[in-house]
Amino acid sequence: MATRPRFLVLDTSALEGGVPELHGARPVVTPGVLRELERRGRLASLEPLVEEGMVEVLEPGNDVLKEVLAAAASVGDELRLSPVDVEVLAAALGLSSRGDVQLLTDDISMQNVAMRLGIRVTGPIVGRRREVHWMYYCPGCGASFDSPPADLICPVCGTALRRKPRGRGSKR
Ligand SMILES: [Zn+2]
Repeated sequence: MATRPRFLVLDTSALEGGVPELHGARPVVTPGVLRELERRGRLASLEPLVEEGMVEVLEPGNDVLKEVLAAAASVGDELRLSPVDVEVLAAALGLSSRGDVQLLTDDISMQNVAMRLGIRVTGPIVGRRREVHWMYYCPGCGASFDSPPADLICPVCGTALRRKPRGRGSKR
């Protein structure tokens, strides 16, 4: 009986405590995740699995990277994503043509962008299943911004901006 393969795409946060429970899914990471784990001295438990081919290392193409960046911009999360975050999301998006994909991350911006892209997410803080549109505001002078300046500093008074969910995505 042919079943669609199931993939579990893992970001750095999902792997810092070792390889999580896979429930029969094929684990997938990206080159950037391996670099981050190595830098944090956490690569030891994963490296043999990569060498044996138990963990797939996937480098996403430019087309899916662009799609992720566009989705991130549309929900206001593009400034919160690192290049590795974008790479992991793009890998998950690219895999969705090959099987059922689930992304494991505890990063709320990644979860948010994944939902926008139709990627299933699991993580310790996925309680709110709806995607969030952020509104940025200045706690100093009260100015608010739909699209904030790149440095996230209030152009009026120089205070660091904060953000909160906007519109119907706000708290129940
Ligand atoms: Zn201000």
